Amino acid sequence: MSNKSALITGITGQDGAYLSKLLLSKGYDVYGVLARRSTDTLWRLREVGVQDDVRLIDGDLTDLSSLIRAMETSKAGEVYNLGAQSFVGTSWQQPLLTAQVDGVGALNVLEAVRIVNKQARFYQASTSEMFGLIQAEMQDETTPFYPRSPYGVAKLMAHWATVNYRESFGMHASSGILFNHESPLRGIEFVTRKVTDAVARIKLGRQKELRLGNIDSKRDWGFAGDYVEAMWLMTQQPAGDDYVVATGLTTTVRDMCEIAFGHVGLKADEHLVIDPAFFRPAEVDVLLGNPAKAMAKLGWKPKTSLEQLITMMVDADMRRLSA
Ligand code: GDP
Repeated sequence: MSNKSALITGITGQDGAYLSKLLLSKGYDVYGVLARRSTDTLWRLREVGVQDDVRLIDGDLTDLSSLIRAMETSKAGEVYNLGAQSFVGTSWQQPLLTAQVDGVGALNVLEAVRIVNKQARFYQASTSEMFGLIQAEMQDETTPFYPRSPYGVAKLMAHWATVNYRESFGMHASSGILFNHESPLRGIEFVTRKVTDAVARIKLGRQKELRLGNIDSKRDWGFAGDYVEAMWLMTQQPAGDDYVVATGLTTTVRDMCEIAFGHVGLKADEHLVIDPAFFRPAEVDVLLGNPAKAMAKLGWKPKTSLEQLITMMVDADMRRLSA
């Protein structure tokens, strides 16, 4: 048995699955806070093969007492707050829920850590959506924030709460400002997975068109499997800090589509339909991160190109649909 124990909120999400696998491979006991739902939420943990190795504790980010209990049960020395209502589009439909879970929820986790074990190291899943209406061509840790969605606003509260607990209580609290990160485990509502799933369906003759919103927006997309390594590296440092995690390259949604369709010998413009239903009330036009600090201080670097990432996702969706 190891004596290292980690607690992950959002363990059933994309990053939760990859981080669980990484921490288990490093000999940690991995605990996860599980918000019970009537639908199957454990498929990602099954897909990475760790469902029998992680220990799940019932709880919810909106319930401080459940988080205190999770801290006591797990005796965690590292806490990763990955739980969130993570889809920007939904945050306009459910702004209050998003604020409660993504903003106040993070504060609940910080409180649970402070109350039960102030020495535990804390990681907050911050996001490039906090940059929103960008104030610099390339965004780094010093770029002013300007969120453009209820999601971005709530995440900004969580980010500052993390900084504040570091400064107020001397806690080892880090904020990872992660740019978009994708994988075959990405939820279908996000644009990369929506595209790779549709490409596989079109290739297999089950669907004809793909309806998207603003395909001119640009994102700095990386592979989630690479990005969870940065999370762990942050909690291993002598002190908590803030780090941008990104590839340093930006690509339009349109060009990302070309990669996906091209991989199976199809042309994007023969299947793409622009649908105003998918436009957002306020858009983040372009994101481009500068990961220089993470590379210098954490020794981290992205290993997977967008081409490799998108083809990996198309191949996984082809396999799933053909199974
Ligand atoms: P986000 O950066 O966290 O909002 O990640 P998403 O994957 O949801 O969206 C990335 C970009 O793709 C945004 O600029 C969206 O407006 C754009 N986009 C265009 N069409 C779609 C669509 O049909 N679904 C989603 N999710 N995004 C789309």
